[in-house]
Amino acid sequence: MSAFEIPTLPYSTSALNPYISARTLEFHYGKHHVNYMENLNKLIAETEMENLDLTSLIQKTANEDHRINVFNNAAQAWNHTFYWRGMKQGGGGQPSAELEELINKSFGSLEKFQEEFKKTALNHFGSGWAWLIIEDGTLKVMSTSNADTPIAHGQKPLLTIDLWEHAYYIDYQNRRAEYIDMFINKLINWNFVLETLKD
Ligand code: MN
Repeated sequence: MSAFEIPTLPYSTSALNPYISARTLEFHYGKHHVNYMENLNKLIAETEMENLDLTSLIQKTANEDHRINVFNNAAQAWNHTFYWRGMKQGGGGQPSAELEELINKSFGSLEKFQEEFKKTALNHFGSGWAWLIIEDGTLKVMSTSNADTPIAHGQKPLLTIDLWEHAYYIDYQNRRAEYIDMFINKLINWNFVLETLKD
């Protein structure tokens, strides 16, 4: 009875222009993300899973082979909401002093973080996600394949970039490196990273 509501984009579809076009967001949010949520609602309707929150549902189905469809749609639904929130118009650049100190402590410098994030995202084979997470007080970079997500494994993500081709093909075709550079330099919402860290 309690279907998940389709989350709204935290900005207009043209807000991330020219780095991510309105056309990309119209498809990526309006078709892909919305489809994951609608599929999920159909899959869990009238089952014992329909009253779980999204995180619990992801964690419950993460190791259940017979519910891989539920896991994939639930994780993709969660990952996309998190991805939208990690970007903003006029993003990128320098994080606040507090966050920069943690970045320096974890990676050596902001530039080293940027290099490692880019390398991880660029070298990830096929579809998936690259992440900034915090573990034992230290920031780390990792990637996951397909729908997989750090929250399925009890890890705490702070930021993600979508590496599925549907995230960048309209704007960048096969040039994943350019998309990653734009994300790092123009789109990262550092305030969101800090809020999530403190959450
Ligand atoms: Mn996507």
